Amino acid sequence: MPEGDTIFRSARTLDRALAGKVVTGFRSEYALLTRFEDNTPLTGRTIESVEARGKWLLMHFSEDAILVTHMLMNGSWHIYRPGERWQKPRSDMRIVIETAAMLAVGFNVPVAEFHTAHSLARRQGFNRLGPAPLAADFDAEAAIANLASRPDLELGLALLDQKLIAGLGNVFKSEVAFACGLNPFRTVGTLSRGQLESVVATARKFLQANVTENSGDRIVTFVPHRRTTGRTDVEENLWVYGRAGKPCRRCATPVRSAKHRADGRISFWCPVCQA
Ligand SMILES: [Zn+2]
Repeated sequence: MPEGDTIFRSARTLDRALAGKVVTGFRSEYALLTRFEDNTPLTGRTIESVEARGKWLLMHFSEDAILVTHMLMNGSWHIYRPGERWQKPRSDMRIVIETAAMLAVGFNVPVAEFHTAHSLARRQGFNRLGPAPLAADFDAEAAIANLASRPDLELGLALLDQKLIAGLGNVFKSEVAFACGLNPFRTVGTLSRGQLESVVATARKFLQANVTENSGDRIVTFVPHRRTTGRTDVEENLWVYGRAGKPCRRCATPVRSAKHRADGRISFWCPVCQA
């Protein structure tokens, strides 16, 4: 599942390719989107900017139109030159936005809606989005206060609650808890102010490290000192996520995994480093 860093990189790529360009064509498999195009054509408008907000991707067009998409499990946006071969099958195409030089193709994008600034501000799930660590105006204090406002919630679940802090998914959630030495099954109410600060700062640091220009597409939180294997599998880059039964990279105790009772999502942790 794409986390906030993936969406951020997609938005940056789309913004560089499309911002300031005029839409020359629009197609979609979604009737609601094509109806919008029929009634209030996107074609002829300018793409003003593309931005990420947590795990949401927003394309802003002139005359107050915003295409809002959410990738959920499998969605992705690609950029192609006209005539260039697509890397995914045509049957996965849901949205195509054409400009003279480039086209943006949304594959398997499960949530796609047109909004005005006004309707977006009222859209459920979006209107209560918490501070996004990758946003230029990220408010760490607000994120800390949001987490502190849910003392009964387990840390591993609180970090996934997009209303509290926006952009973390399953991988970052486990990695942040490990880096802070906190058991993901502790309730937020047992954490000190300093521990909450550390959680928010670490979440931001990990997300930011994954959106630098050379960060590639993989989530990286653990960087081995020596890279001799040349392997690129995900386990080389992470402290605990996906490593159940393998030795902790700090203390060699086997990493554990378990589901949170409230929603069945899995956290990975070291029982010694995160006692
Ligand atoms: Zn350990």
